[in-house]
Amino acid sequence: MSLRPLSLPQRLLPALLGALLGLTSWQARASDLIRTQEIAECRSGEIGTWGDGRDRPAVDTHLRLVYDHEGAPPWFDEALVLATLRRAADAWAGCGVPASVWPRAHGAEVPPGAVLVNWDDRLVRGNFGLAHVGLRRLWLGAAAFRTLRARNAAYPAHETLQMVVSHEMGHLFGLMDHSNRCVDVMSYYDNGRGDRCRAREGNDRGWRGDYRALLPTACDIQRCRAANAAPVTAAR
Ligand SMILES: [Zn+2]
Repeated sequence: MSLRPLSLPQRLLPALLGALLGLTSWQARASDLIRTQEIAECRSGEIGTWGDGRDRPAVDTHLRLVYDHEGAPPWFDEALVLATLRRAADAWAGCGVPASVWPRAHGAEVPPGAVLVNWDDRLVRGNFGLAHVGLRRLWLGAAAFRTLRARNAAYPAHETLQMVVSHEMGHLFGLMDHSNRCVDVMSYYDNGRGDRCRAREGNDRGWRGDYRALLPTACDIQRCRAANAAPVTAAR
């Protein structure tokens, strides 16, 4: 075996690759930072919606949610789902509407005015989650989570659950319109007619996985505050 000296391009290759990888990780960090800022701060003029619904006040002045664990996928235990619901409720309460989450024994009576959160593949119609504001229900779909797991067992399904719960709870807090700001938990990425959501500096382009936040963003909360603001009495 002869050891020939490396030619110049061969010697440069590791350095070039290192520089490229360095650049890639730098770009990834910059992209993460922009998204983190979008979650934390709602700049003037950034709120935008698809116009597919009309915001209204929350279903109650104090949201009480009761969670029934029956029918949940076995990899989500009750404590995990309750913690997920409480994180979303606490975050949304920042808009001025207090919310609390309680476990419910299966079949026990739902307190009057409370929102029942339960697993129901028939009513959720193939979705991960669905809120019915009029009936005060938030249904979760075990079948959708089973499909997700079958496709990719390593996928962090608890994050999907958090995103779904935060989004559907947003409807109960009064946000009926969907955001066109990609990072908002109330966003839809496109309107089905070729229009794509917006991110600062086009930051969503090339993003891997979900760009949407797991909890309400500053813009979600601002919209929620507006939807729940006490009506201004006209001066006489
Ligand atoms: Zn929705």
